[in-house]
Amino acid sequence: MTGAMALGALLLVSAKPSPRKPTPLELSLKAHVETLASDDFDGREPGTEGETKTLRYLARQWFDIGMEAGTNIPGSGWFAPVELVEREPVLSRASFMRGRKRINLPPDSVFVVTSGLRSLVQDAPLIFVGHAASAGAARAELAGRVAVMLDSVPDGMTREQVGDRAGRLLDAGALAVVTVLDDERGIEDIVSRRKRAGYAVAGDRLGSEIEAFVSPATADALLAGSAHSSLARLRSDAATPQFSPYLLGLTASFEASSRETRIKTHNLIGKLEGRNPAAGAVLMMAHWDHFGECGSPPAEDVICNGAIDNASGLAVITEAARILSRGKPMDRDVYFVATTGEELGLLGAIAFAENPPIPLDRFVAAFNVDSTGLVPPGGPIGIVGKGQTPLEPLIADVVRRMKRKLAASDAANAYMKRQDSFILQKHDVPAVMVSNSYGDMDRIERFMEDTYHRPSDQANATIDYAGMADDVALQVELVRAFADTRRYPGRPAAAQPGRP
Ligand SMILES: [Zn+2]
Repeated sequence: MTGAMALGALLLVSAKPSPRKPTPLELSLKAHVETLASDDFDGREPGTEGETKTLRYLARQWFDIGMEAGTNIPGSGWFAPVELVEREPVLSRASFMRGRKRINLPPDSVFVVTSGLRSLVQDAPLIFVGHAASAGAARAELAGRVAVMLDSVPDGMTREQVGDRAGRLLDAGALAVVTVLDDERGIEDIVSRRKRAGYAVAGDRLGSEIEAFVSPATADALLAGSAHSSLARLRSDAATPQFSPYLLGLTASFEASSRETRIKTHNLIGKLEGRNPAAGAVLMMAHWDHFGECGSPPAEDVICNGAIDNASGLAVITEAARILSRGKPMDRDVYFVATTGEELGLLGAIAFAENPPIPLDRFVAAFNVDSTGLVPPGGPIGIVGKGQTPLEPLIADVVRRMKRKLAASDAANAYMKRQDSFILQKHDVPAVMVSNSYGDMDRIERFMEDTYHRPSDQANATIDYAGMADDVALQVELVRAFADTRRYPGRPAAAQPGRP
């Protein structure tokens, strides 16, 4: 419809395009964005009054549209509780003994951190495990001991290839892991990174494991006078093909504690019922949260209103739901989720995937909407997650029937890990983001540079509501296609990504 209108306008107007009257859909989108991104909602920060206002507004809209509550949690209705927790290191203590002799180290030469609230290790022997690049040390060797590992990776390997070495050693029974840093990362880097570790979903395995970090100079001070009297010696041992872990003749005691902050927040989940829920469901998602007050005085405007990011996505899925609810009944159920904690690390999506309203493998397709309204209607359509799901042939068909074009490049995939559908995809749900915003990489990159996550992302004249309406039409057609059991019979078993 938008395409036909644009053509009409083109024929009527010869020289300069005059502003045309906004459609009712564009006005609805504008009203949603102006409400959700108003200063009254104070930047939609999880756990605040801004959350209450946001979820009340959306739930009211969704209820009026004719959606049903979708959490499937008795007593929760529309709102799936999500608890977020942040642990910040506060106490860090270490001491080392050779036999009965305590080794003197300068203060702050060892950084000890726990994933729990308070953890202790007392008088445990140190075992050197080299680079610990592969499974390596056996459970029997690690049990009751502290593994000492080199931070550097063996020649010819990357950090990505060696993976989470400390995690593996702890899983294999080490009481704690000491990482001997090289010159690449200093203690200060580790400390500042841990202080900014951020929130996680409570109930994720938080553990109470201890990790310690020492500088090369501290490692030399610990080793001095032993059979393995220097770090250079450890490094050359670790480089030999026949290397196997050995005891260092040292014991260590560690103590670490953290301060915990918790936020109680919610995902909003609704659904439009299909005629044949046994055939599975389609998922539409958009994150509702943003940063609250992110600027600091003397700046006059300190509220990060998050108009594009992501009042726009909420507006789009809400209006798509309205159109779908008035259309022909669909075969599959369609779930709508407004996720929390996206800006804190896709945490609402993680909570949804860990505690879904129906088993995740019942979702045949998931479509996220994040940051739309950046481009005028009619342009190419980008897929974030292009080439990564079995959804693509039908997406291409939908786009073709709408007389539109898919962007040729897969440049939009650069945003894959920065948005909620990434989490669904990690859980083997075919999940993508399909939008005209990601069909114009120049425009999205310009937004990232000048407006993204700043107080200037607010409801103003730069938002293209006609382009946003274009994305509504696209989401509607996508959902209709994937909710139709004839057009999309289901997930092809062999094409499920990530299954071993
Ligand atoms: Zn954001």
